[in-house]
Amino acid sequence: MSSGQVIVTGASRGIGAAIAAELDRRGYTVAGLSRSGEAAVGYGLPCDVADEASLREAVAAVAARGPVVGLVNNAGAHRATPSAVLGTGEFERTMRLNATAVLVACREAYPHLVRAGDGLIVNIGSFFDRMAVPENVAYCASKAAVAAITRCLAAEWARDGIRVIDVAPGYIETDLNRAFLARESVRAWIGRRIPVGRPGQPEEVARLVGVLFAEKIGFLTGETIYVDGGQGNNH
Ligand code: NDP
Repeated sequence: MSSGQVIVTGASRGIGAAIAAELDRRGYTVAGLSRSGEAAVGYGLPCDVADEASLREAVAAVAARGPVVGLVNNAGAHRATPSAVLGTGEFERTMRLNATAVLVACREAYPHLVRAGDGLIVNIGSFFDRMAVPENVAYCASKAAVAAITRCLAAEWARDGIRVIDVAPGYIETDLNRAFLARESVRAWIGRRIPVGRPGQPEEVARLVGVLFAEKIGFLTGETIYVDGGQGNNH
């Protein structure tokens, strides 16, 4: 029997697909939102999370099928651009997809999570949220916003029985950065820079998300948990 529905954005590929598989394995019915609508487990719905109306309709469609006990905001994109030529439009598009969509999804899911009781929201941030990365001001700002959204909603919604946690990956091998990570020079740099000596795999992020859902650690909320092979602390 299903433990209830969990909405996972960006479930069609990469970290989101691994999270969907992990939650499916743990007995949840995964509603996977992505532009393609593809889903290997549960069911998929086509949705552009950067489009507020599309996101609102998708959350409502999931809720119409049954109780929503969780939300994983994972959809996101990365692009590096030198700050001196970064257009305002590109900055705002990055913020809209990586940060505003997180807030909108949380807000739309809120009444359903309250109704189900004991709701959990996991926002996929990034270890870039606390790093100074050249040519990454938009991405870093968007992920710092995810950490702030997580903290603030956690404080505001704790009494509604909703916990909000930011899971912040380091370098994980997915479509988002496969070409970058395959470069010989990057491999050598990663060997020196990441204490565990390698990039992570999507399943390593997914397992943490699975534990957060399964173990229901009621005193844990508002935090950012890094899954980065120790890189963020390695100054
Ligand atoms: P991928 O590029 O492999 O996958 C992105 C997923 O998001 C796809 O399922 C894609 O599906 C979906 N997506 C993209 N844009 C939209 C949109 N507008 N609306 C709905 N869905 C969308 O990325 P990763 O798996 O690597 O990244 C997932 C998350 O993890 C992101 O938030 C990223 O910032 C974060 N992260 C990743 C790291 C890494 O090293 N890979 C490191 C730190 C954080 P579709 O194309 O069908 O819409």
